[in-house]
Amino acid sequence: MPVLVMKFGGTSVASLDRIRRAAKRVGREVANGHDVIVIVSAMSGKTNELVGWVNEISPLFDAREYDAVVSSGENVTAGLMALTLQEMDIPARSWQGWQVPVLTTSAHSAARIMDIPTDNINTKFSEGMRVAVVAGFQGISPENRITTLGRGGSDTTAVAFAAAFDAERCDIYTDVDGVYTTDPRIESKARKLDRIAFEEMLELASLGAKVLQTRSVELAMRYKVKLRVLSSFEEYDENAGTLVCDEEEIMEQNVVAGVAYQRDEAKMTLISVADRPGIAAAIFGPLSEAGVNVDMIVQNISEEGRTDMTFSCPVEQVARAERAMQEAKTSGDINFHDIVADTDVAKVSVVGIGMRSHAGVAAKMFQVLSDEGINIKVITTSEIKISVLIDRKYMELAVQSLHDAFELEKVA
Ligand code: ADP
Ligand code: ASP
Ligand code: MG
Repeated sequence: MPVLVMKFGGTSVASLDRIRRAAKRVGREVANGHDVIVIVSAMSGKTNELVGWVNEISPLFDAREYDAVVSSGENVTAGLMALTLQEMDIPARSWQGWQVPVLTTSAHSAARIMDIPTDNINTKFSEGMRVAVVAGFQGISPENRITTLGRGGSDTTAVAFAAAFDAERCDIYTDVDGVYTTDPRIESKARKLDRIAFEEMLELASLGAKVLQTRSVELAMRYKVKLRVLSSFEEYDENAGTLVCDEEEIMEQNVVAGVAYQRDEAKMTLISVADRPGIAAAIFGPLSEAGVNVDMIVQNISEEGRTDMTFSCPVEQVARAERAMQEAKTSGDINFHDIVADTDVAKVSVVGIGMRSHAGVAAKMFQVLSDEGINIKVITTSEIKISVLIDRKYMELAVQSLHDAFELEKVA
C-alpha cells in the first residue's frame, strides 16, 4: 500500500483532545488505503520545560544527558497517539527512535540522520499494522546513546522517513495553515503561499522562519520529497496548505518571496586584535570547537596593525563564546584589548529567487529601514537574500515595514 507520512507538531498534540483530533485525520488516510507513518512532536511547551530543567541543574551540561532528557517528550505523545488509534480500531504501534532505528551522528543536540533501515516497520506493515507512530526529533548514535536533531527536529524526522519509505507525500500539520510571506503572528497582512520553491523555503527556514526546520527542507530538496505544510485545526481539503516544490512548478512569483527574523541574536566584538594572517582562523576555530554558531562576520578597517572583529551568534551562546575567547587569549593564541557583547539585537532578512535577476532590492530595504529610523549594525547578502542586524526593539517594525514596502500582501 502507498505510504503517507503525517507529522503533528507540538500544538497539534498538546492535549488528549488534540491527539484524538489528529488521530481522526490519520484514520481518514488509513481508510483511503494508505499505510501511514505518523511522526509526533512533544506536547507544546514540554521540550522547553525539559531544556529549562537541564539548564537549571547544569548550565554547561553534558550534551549526552541533555539529549536523554529533552528527547523524552516525544516518547509520551508517540505512545498516546498509538493508544488513541488502537481505541479507534486502527492497528497501530509506537516506535522510539532507537527502536526503528533512526541512526544518527553523535553530534548531540544537533545530530544528523545517517540512515533509517526500513525493515522493522515494513515487516509490521506486512503483518497488518496500518500506522507506525514514531517519536520525532530523536535517534541513536554509533555509541548507542540517544541523540536529538536540534530544535524543530521532528520536521526532519518526518522528511527523512518520507525519503526512506518512498512516501507519496510528507504532510506537516502545524498551527498555521501554511507557509506565509512572513510570520502571521507578527504581520497580520502576511499572505499564505500556495507554493514556495525549495530554495526560498531553505533560506527562510535558516533565517528564522521556524515553520520548518532547515534540515528538513534540505532533505526534501535532495530526495525530491513532496512536502506540504498545513493546519491540523482547519477542515481538510485536497488543496489545503502550502506545497514546497521546485522553482519550475511555480507560476507567478514576487521578487521578494518573504521576510524572516531571528529574535535572539547577539553581536560580539573583539576590540583591537592583531591584523595578521591566520587571525580569523585563530578566533573562529576555537568558537566552532566551543559549539558557537557564528553567523555574520565583519572585520573592521585596520589601523597600525590592529583591527576590531565583529561577529553575531545566538544570544544563549554568548557565555560560551566569551569563555572560548578568554581561553584563547590565556593560551596566547590571540590577543585582544576587550570583548564586548551586545545582547539586544535581532536579524531581519528578505528572501527571494527573483533577486537573482532584479537589482535594487538591497537599496530599497536599506531605504525602508532608514525611513523608520532603524540603524543597521551589520549586513550580509547572498544571491537570494539580504540580512541586517538591528536593535531587537525595532524587529517587528522592520518586518512590517519591509512586508509593506515590497507589497508582499499582493501577488505580483
Ligand atoms: P510546530 O509545533 O507545529 O512544529 P512551530 O511553532 O515549530 O510549529 O512552527 C509554526 C510557527 O512558525 C507558526 O505558529 C508561526 O508563528 C511561525 N512562522 C514563522 N515564520 C512563518 C512563516 N513564514 N509562515 C508560517 N509560519 C511561520
Ligand atoms: N519537540 C522538539 C522541539 O520542541 C522537536 C519538535 O517539536 O520538532 O524542538
Ligand atoms: Mg516546529
